Amino acid sequence: MSQVSDRLAQIPSINAILEDRRIEPLLAGHSRDWMTRLSRRMVEGMRKELLTANGPVLERNQLMSALVKRLVDKRNALLEKSWTRVLNGTGVVVHTNLGRSCFPVAAADAAHAVACFNSDLEFDLAEGSRGHRGREVEEKISLLTGAADALVVNNNAAAVWLAVRFLCPGGRVVLSRGEVVAIGGSFRIHEILAETGCTLVEVGTTNRTSLEDYRAALGPETMVLKVHRSNFSVQGFTEDVELADLARLCRETECPLAYDAGSGAIFPYQELGLPSGERLLAEDLSAGPDLITCSGDKLLGGCQAGVILGSEKLVMGLRKHPMRRAFRVDKTTLAALDAIMSLYLAAEDRPAIPTLDQLAQDLDMLSDRAERLLAVLINSAPSNWLGSVVPGHSSVGGGTFSTASIESRLVLWNGPKVELEACHQSLRLGDPALVGRMNQEGLAVDVRTICEEELPLVEEAFRRAWDSMAGTEKTGKAK
Ligand SMILES: *Cc1c(COP(=O)(O)O)cnc(C)c1O
Repeated sequence: MSQVSDRLAQIPSINAILEDRRIEPLLAGHSRDWMTRLSRRMVEGMRKELLTANGPVLERNQLMSALVKRLVDKRNALLEKSWTRVLNGTGVVVHTNLGRSCFPVAAADAAHAVACFNSDLEFDLAEGSRGHRGREVEEKISLLTGAADALVVNNNAAAVWLAVRFLCPGGRVVLSRGEVVAIGGSFRIHEILAETGCTLVEVGTTNRTSLEDYRAALGPETMVLKVHRSNFSVQGFTEDVELADLARLCRETECPLAYDAGSGAIFPYQELGLPSGERLLAEDLSAGPDLITCSGDKLLGGCQAGVILGSEKLVMGLRKHPMRRAFRVDKTTLAALDAIMSLYLAAEDRPAIPTLDQLAQDLDMLSDRAERLLAVLINSAPSNWLGSVVPGHSSVGGGTFSTASIESRLVLWNGPKVELEACHQSLRLGDPALVGRMNQEGLAVDVRTICEEELPLVEEAFRRAWDSMAGTEKTGKAK
């Protein structure tokens, strides 16, 4: 017998695993069904490992113990929530991998309330009959942006798809080569367009597209799509066509124009000290495209959603589109978005939205927070580590202000690289986890994305991480 079949022959049977005295008590009632499926997966996983293993052949009881342990651990993990709170020390405000924008408390409360109790989201209480899902939030959005009407869908990807499919079914979509973008891992504009059944007509070049390039491509059954270059910028020998100029050309030639605005700004971000690069949705609308789409959870500071803005006629058409239902949002999303829009409406200056709060913090506040954090940590740090508060840069993230970095303050730890990395790993594995920034200078925590209430949690996270780094002498030195 070959070594491989020797190995595989030692894998216990599913029945033997289920009869093990450590597993048997976990099979009460309906659990037996899914526990059986889970054991099959565990055995299959082990089979794959053994096929490529090159250590000694393990005894059956060793494999049994290993499988039982994996099964028990996995079962316990499945009975718990499958996510971990993260303390965001990265300085990226709208961090796509960490859940983009955080909800304002009012939005979370609203989502909680409609989730746990019945509501009139689809019922007209005055008439006692079927109501319109989401009309109020859409009214709020339209008032805030100046659009005649608005439609909320699942995300911006859905909004772009629906807008294109509706404006130009089966037709040609003209797009500048410089705007054939990929956002995140799965939004690739040419792939979305292919799925609308329209033909993509690329015009211009990567760095230069002129009004004449567009004009030459227009014709019957043709629309123009303009896409915000959310996560990159083109510099040097460049030419671009302004939305307003494109809108004028499209009106002349009677071709519809849709604009994917990406992030969707309602608030003037210059007031937070950010460069004036992001245009407001209201400004985009006055440039005159037929439809504008944007995300709900980027700069808007809300939840995953897509918003389509436009005339009453077009938005009503979108509302009636058969695919609209496939893109509609959950009641919790509508309630959260509704609460966020009310915050924008009620605000005399800046609405109480975490994304905006984080962007608005000034350097004095950040320095003070960083100094306090350093002070509580310094005496528990490994003795060969050096802690300091240093200037650094946060970024907006979420595909917005791609080139802007905002000055911030970091708590920076210097020390042996392996120790810093071990600490960061241990921080990431904690609960709550802490994700910071590792670079040549050391391990840094940007305090812009850590709120006041989270400081004690950051402190605990570091203490736990240092405790777990056994054998290192504590009490670090301040620089
Ligand atoms: C982020 C982004 C999208 C995708 O938005 P989702 O809401 O994540 O679907 C599409 N287009 C642009 C320009 C973006 O910035």
